Amino acid sequence: MNETKDPRTGQRFALAFALTLAILAVEVVGGLVANSLALLSDAGHVVTDVFALGLGWFAVRQAARPANASKTWGYHRAGIVVAFVNALTLLAITVIIIVEAITRLQHPATVQPLVMGASALFGIGMNLVIARFLGTPHAHAHDDHAGHDHKHELDLNTRAALLHVLGDVGASVSVILAAILIALTHAAILDAVISCAIALVVGFGAWRVGRDAVNLLLEGVPKGLTTEGIKQELRDIQGVYEVHDLHVWGITDTQRALTCHAVIDDIPINASAPLLDRINHMLRDRYGIAHTTVQFERRTTRGPASLPCACSVDCDCVGTVIEKRAVGHHA
Ligand SMILES: [Zn+2]
Ligand SMILES: [Zn+2]
Ligand SMILES: [Zn+2]
Ligand SMILES: [Zn+2]
Repeated sequence: MNETKDPRTGQRFALAFALTLAILAVEVVGGLVANSLALLSDAGHVVTDVFALGLGWFAVRQAARPANASKTWGYHRAGIVVAFVNALTLLAITVIIIVEAITRLQHPATVQPLVMGASALFGIGMNLVIARFLGTPHAHAHDDHAGHDHKHELDLNTRAALLHVLGDVGASVSVILAAILIALTHAAILDAVISCAIALVVGFGAWRVGRDAVNLLLEGVPKGLTTEGIKQELRDIQGVYEVHDLHVWGITDTQRALTCHAVIDDIPINASAPLLDRINHMLRDRYGIAHTTVQFERRTTRGPASLPCACSVDCDCVGTVIEKRAVGHHA
């Protein structure tokens, strides 16, 4: 798998990183001067943005590294690990903000709405610039040994980063609204209320990204696919009698892989090639699965057809098969 990554993706992350540092500086100083928890909680969240973007940038560079003899899938999963760590960090921040906000609800503090609003306005401006640069879906050629060429959707990290930035704009807008209301009503408690709301939105986003990352790390079936559906379509292919030991998973959220055993007639390899071609085409066209490993097994008239794996039933060297099963071959 040789990836030719768009180098501009790395530059976008670098720009977003620099601008996010600027937001952090303004919101920390502004939050301290204004004594605003809403602004400080947003700044605390921006700290994780700095880490997230820095790590995301690292992940993009890792994904661009070619596969080698010891990392046969390349480094695509580096981005998934980063997304998972980001999600955990944001969930921790969410808890900290809510605990702080509860304290403030009990003991409201005086805040300066003008500084609060101005700092949040700066955050909005910078975040819109970041969204402008991260928002363009990148397309890159993807050269597999299967020779397919397709446009990728936004990958998990870019999508997470973009959602993030849009969420930040929403948070800053609510801080400005709170600042206006505090200026009008002197109800400083609004500051704590808004910081709670910001925390919940951040926590929800982190939960979703974390859930997707965990599904990939656990090699779960990609969203929208069912193993039963794929098995049925494989069995529907002329010449395929039975399919078992089917695994389907995502290397990343845009690359899918599949392995299975398919029982076919006892025919020479050159005669089975067109069948393999039909299987691979169906998997690629119907399910977007470009990386497949299909193990053909010859159809047997001996033994009950319902046994889990025809390969172990019909194997000539039964001893070897039993040994293999003992170390974890599964149906
Ligand atoms: Zn953010
Ligand atoms: Zn298996
Ligand atoms: Zn492949
Ligand atoms: Zn088998």
